[in-house]
Amino acid sequence: MFCANEDCPQTSTKLFLCSRCKDIRYCSKNCQLACLGWHKKICIDPNKTVFNLMKSVFADDFEVMNEELKASYGFEKCKTPFETQKLFGLYAGLIKFLDCDLKELDQAFQENKLPEFIVSTFFYKAGGPKTCGGYFKWYIQNIDICRR
Ligand SMILES: [Zn+2]
Ligand SMILES: [Zn+2]
Repeated sequence: MFCANEDCPQTSTKLFLCSRCKDIRYCSKNCQLACLGWHKKICIDPNKTVFNLMKSVFADDFEVMNEELKASYGFEKCKTPFETQKLFGLYAGLIKFLDCDLKELDQAFQENKLPEFIVSTFFYKAGGPKTCGGYFKWYIQNIDICRR
């Protein structure tokens, strides 16, 4: 086990788990603070479906998806493997490349506002449809797939 802070000089020391996500470990409060910038957006309760979504896209693997995820976030409406792959790629773009905040994504899902959240995130962070790539173009034509 390593401290989540890549610049941490410590090698063998007692590490403590991040109390919210229980997904990464730190050796000290200082290292926790050093990671805050990148970690706070993906630090979320592991029981939430969005945590599994984040794990799946970082693993780049459908097999990591649990049953709750397959039955939500629009995946339940995908009729073909092609659609599933496109939707998965869309979330990968949102989480991995646009650094979307998982707490905001979870909130949008709970409030049934995923389409609004996805479109506004791609527009504001990617700079409009021209720079959004193929997954987003597909999504614009299938926007209600994320509407419950
Ligand atoms: Zn450390
Ligand atoms: Zn955390």
